[in-house]
Amino acid sequence: MPALPYTALPTPATPIGDLKSWRLILRCDRCNRKVVLALTDLAAKYGGGLSVWRAIDRLRCHRKRDGASCGGIPRRVVLAECDTYGKSTRITREIVVRDGGNSALPEGNNVGFRTLI
Ligand SMILES: [Zn+2]
Repeated sequence: MPALPYTALPTPATPIGDLKSWRLILRCDRCNRKVVLALTDLAAKYGGGLSVWRAIDRLRCHRKRDGASCGGIPRRVVLAECDTYGKSTRITREIVVRDGGNSALPEGNNVGFRTLI
């Protein structure tokens, strides 16, 4: 199904429509919320011809804080290729697209497969 040969890794310029088995793992710059998005969902919203970095550029955190959206930008972005077997998902390859450094907040907060957009 993937349009790319197995050895070809996506780059930030790769169209998101070519990355059907990949997901974006994002960490909000403001509230440290972790969000996982399927690139197929982004392709359905923005079109498959959009490049990875332009898609990331459009994402803002929609976590509600005191009635207003957080609005933070993704600080750390990882592209992850996933294999799904039944209800379990395994990451087979990972590429760090943006690494904004470590955070003082602990891992594991706000983990969920909710959409950011
Ligand atoms: Zn946020």
